[in-house]
Amino acid sequence: MTDNPLVLGVDLGGSKILSAAVNARGEIRSRDLSITPAAKGPEAVIQAMLASIERAIGQAGIATAQLEAICIGAPGLSNPETGIVFTSSNLPGWKNVPLREIIEDKMGAKTLLINDANAAALGEMYFGAARGARNFIYITVSTGIGGGIVIDGEVYAGDRGTAGEIGHMTIDTNGSKCNCGNTGCWETLASGTALAREARKRIKSKAETAILEYAGGDIDKVNAEAVYRASQQGDALARELIARTGYYLGVGLTNLINIFNPELIIIGGGLSRIGDMLLEPAYKVAEERSYRAAFDSVRFARPALGGDSGVIGAAAYAFRKMEKSKK
Ligand SMILES: [Zn+2]
Repeated sequence: MTDNPLVLGVDLGGSKILSAAVNARGEIRSRDLSITPAAKGPEAVIQAMLASIERAIGQAGIATAQLEAICIGAPGLSNPETGIVFTSSNLPGWKNVPLREIIEDKMGAKTLLINDANAAALGEMYFGAARGARNFIYITVSTGIGGGIVIDGEVYAGDRGTAGEIGHMTIDTNGSKCNCGNTGCWETLASGTALAREARKRIKSKAETAILEYAGGDIDKVNAEAVYRASQQGDALARELIARTGYYLGVGLTNLINIFNPELIIIGGGLSRIGDMLLEPAYKVAEERSYRAAFDSVRFARPALGGDSGVIGAAAYAFRKMEKSKK
């Protein structure tokens, strides 16, 4: 049985593509998860997206013509109105790609584009942890750090639609080089990539740790996962590095709390699954450094939709957009 109408939501990430047919109640009817061939450039990624979309449509047991729309949540800077992805720090080679138009032409279905973190924020607002919230921030901490800022019930898009790039607020002007070209951005200090980089640095300087064993003895394979697994076995350096990442996470949270005075901050993304070892130091720093009145009004939560916030939010965005255009 198919329940119309359905929107095909796509969450395009730097490492994975998730496509899902979603109904107007935010329920997923089919899903397809595949690897993003990011290093091969935009054409390969777009081919992979098209294949993933086709599979998700097939699994939903419908024809493309029965879809209300396709809505892509894309990482990096994009303009939802023109459908152009300007650049994306975790998708090498992407420069002014007219993604919306390309997918629309290839699929022959109405297509929309939204920033991935903004999509996730909307998913949580309509169907998840932010139901009822009017002023909140959704943060995804994984390879990089993304954000969706909701002000008075609307995603804040800015002048050209590029707002919410919270991962690129400068925390340390003398810090490491970021993929965006700047130095010392929040994501160079508090993301999974940052955690792995710091671990490799410490291993190279002969720190005593078992982290390397969890990466098969290959320093190039040391990632956030290896650090996490070592920490679970009580590895002191792993625990120290996670706490350090949490500290910097908290510094960025402080800036967001002082600037936006949100009622709620949702922290999602792969790295956040580490949980308390990462988040407790972050909350502590935020409490110490924020304005008291602003900190007292903020509540922290985890995403209720888990890894599905993005596809569900992309679909919800499309449903709402189409409803508006009918009026
Ligand atoms: Zn940056």
